[in-house]
Amino acid sequence: MYIVLLGAPGSGKGTQASLLGKKMNIEHLSTGDLFRAILADTEHLLYPDVQVIKEGKLVSDEVVNRVVEDGLRGERFKKGAILDGYPRTVAQAKALDDILHKLGKEIDVVIDLDVTKAVLMERLLSRRVCPECKRIFSVKDGIDFCPDCNVELIIRDDDNEKVIEERFKEYQEKTAPLKDYYMSSGVPYIKTKIDDVDITPAEVNQLILEKLDKTKPDKVG
Ligand SMILES: [Zn+2]
Repeated sequence: MYIVLLGAPGSGKGTQASLLGKKMNIEHLSTGDLFRAILADTEHLLYPDVQVIKEGKLVSDEVVNRVVEDGLRGERFKKGAILDGYPRTVAQAKALDDILHKLGKEIDVVIDLDVTKAVLMERLLSRRVCPECKRIFSVKDGIDFCPDCNVELIIRDDDNEKVIEERFKEYQEKTAPLKDYYMSSGVPYIKTKIDDVDITPAEVNQLILEKLDKTKPDKVG
């Protein structure tokens, strides 16, 4: 089963991807991980194309698509994949359709984590991070020091209202065409609205699984 997960920064997309992956026994495909694996292997066919990252440069869409294709051809993703952070654009979504088509597969479902701005704002503004191990806490945890490192937790510079607002707006603008693309393509589209700041990742996961169960995409595996 091939799943595309959409969600704004701070929506808990990564957490949901790994929870879903475990429940459904499919691997989480992160482009970041794919890039890191290639960069660690100078013999890799795509190494010359991606090594510009080391110089702090961005790779082209074409290279990102090739990296994803290479990943999807691997044994790990034979049974399926949960894609998060890719595709980001309609062009990438079309490329992904082509890649899967070549492999005799298709997207089975798109899951849209639709977290309201109010929830994102409250969640991110209450975020505290350990400057040592980077572990993330919430003011709700009621602790001021990292239990592992014993250093004081801090607020990240970009966890402020203005930056969050901008990131949210940018996400909405960039993703709108992608959402339209998927909604008009006929692929099952699950929208999970999250407007309660106290909902836990486990509860969100449960919501998604219930909706998935109702959708029952037929091509599982
Ligand atoms: Zn720490």
